Amino acid sequence: MVLPDSKAKRYERHIIMPEIGQLGQKKLLDSHVEVIGNSVSEALSLFYYLTAVGIGTISYNFQNKNGINNMLFNLKDLNPDITIIESDLTDANNNPKVRIIIGNMDFVHNKISLLDEKNKSQIPLIIAVTNPWQGLFYVFREKEKPYTDIFETAYVEFSKNKSFASEGFVLSSCFAGALGATEAVKCCLNLGDSVDNPLFYDLMSMRFSGNKNCNIAANKSPKTSRHFKNRISDSKVLIIGTGGLGSPVAFALALIGVGTIGLVDGDHVDLSNLNRQILHATSRIGMSKVESACWFLKRLNPSIRIIPYYTNITKENALDLIKDYDVIIACLDNLPSRYLLNDTCFFPEKPLVEAGVLRLNGMSQTILPKQGPCYRCIFPEMPSLESIPSPSQAGILGSIPGVMGFLEAAEVVKLLIGADGILKDRILLYDAMDLEFRVPSFRGDYRCPLCGENPSITTLQDYETGL
Ligand SMILES: [Zn+2]
Repeated sequence: MVLPDSKAKRYERHIIMPEIGQLGQKKLLDSHVEVIGNSVSEALSLFYYLTAVGIGTISYNFQNKNGINNMLFNLKDLNPDITIIESDLTDANNNPKVRIIIGNMDFVHNKISLLDEKNKSQIPLIIAVTNPWQGLFYVFREKEKPYTDIFETAYVEFSKNKSFASEGFVLSSCFAGALGATEAVKCCLNLGDSVDNPLFYDLMSMRFSGNKNCNIAANKSPKTSRHFKNRISDSKVLIIGTGGLGSPVAFALALIGVGTIGLVDGDHVDLSNLNRQILHATSRIGMSKVESACWFLKRLNPSIRIIPYYTNITKENALDLIKDYDVIIACLDNLPSRYLLNDTCFFPEKPLVEAGVLRLNGMSQTILPKQGPCYRCIFPEMPSLESIPSPSQAGILGSIPGVMGFLEAAEVVKLLIGADGILKDRILLYDAMDLEFRVPSFRGDYRCPLCGENPSITTLQDYETGL
């Protein structure tokens, strides 16, 4: 046995992935990842996911340590197997397996110059520059030339974007954190590929590019106005599922200050959830997930209202559950419930943000009933359950639902503030192994059994939910 029983259980959802396995998990537990960050708040999601996936030693060096004690307390409760220490950047014996720098452009630029000076070149380096709504992400697995040379000129435009948009800032740094944790795991295990060029992302337009010539950097981030703030704090959103996807969605929306967040889940916290479900913790094992999530979210942002619904979504309760909410968010790990939710939101025309994760891939779309394609336009009929492995059979790397959940959160905020760039006629596909995002367009299908010209589905069906 590579891992003792207690640890194997904690990671059981992904140790069965052939790409990782128990040997890989042992390697992660033996790994040391160093995070150099501008502030704790910018690196929160990065720390939660590094902890959840089981990186054995995480060291930190923050310019602004505000909020560190609270974060350390929560991380220890999320995964007691992890050691978290303050790192001494001047110590010559400080040799992490992977180093991550996260912060704004000036901060990152300054830190990579220092690394160049000290010639700390052998350690893979992950760089996450976070701007509101946007970011630049780079993975140097092997250093070929000084980091500063690569950074010096190409990104001047990017760093000029100083518009202040706090919700966009939370989204960008949360997204970069989950992405950073995923790339750190890949570096530790020598898995997959990373981009050759920096990855630019813009969560407002949902554009991603590894191409330096892409003009993503020229996109204007919307400025936060009091109007947006009020809209966000007056909004009501309903998150169906508080597991792997629901955790990052609720985490980001609570930080942003969405006024009312409803949570639907009939499950209880289990040890095996904690490799990815960052709302929950070891001390709350056995508690209902909605209660555990309330406990966590109220401490994250005491000014918002959380409404728990301790139930699974069913044909009988679905329409009633969604009726008072502005946006519905599907964070489900089973197909029958995803079909049920698609159909439920269609009749009263509620916007539905939808995502799914399987193994090392994720997909997401936003469904605006009667304004764009629905879930059944792509997958008209539910496949037989035997033909599709459930996430618990196929395995999930804990930070991948994090990436997808934060993308869902970005869609929700855009819907609430009335922004363009919604994924309503596009589908987002994430391939973690290659660090690739694709966003192909697609149209509604006139033959769709729900939203097509001659619908055969005019009322809720029988779905085998609650699986
Ligand atoms: Zn349809």
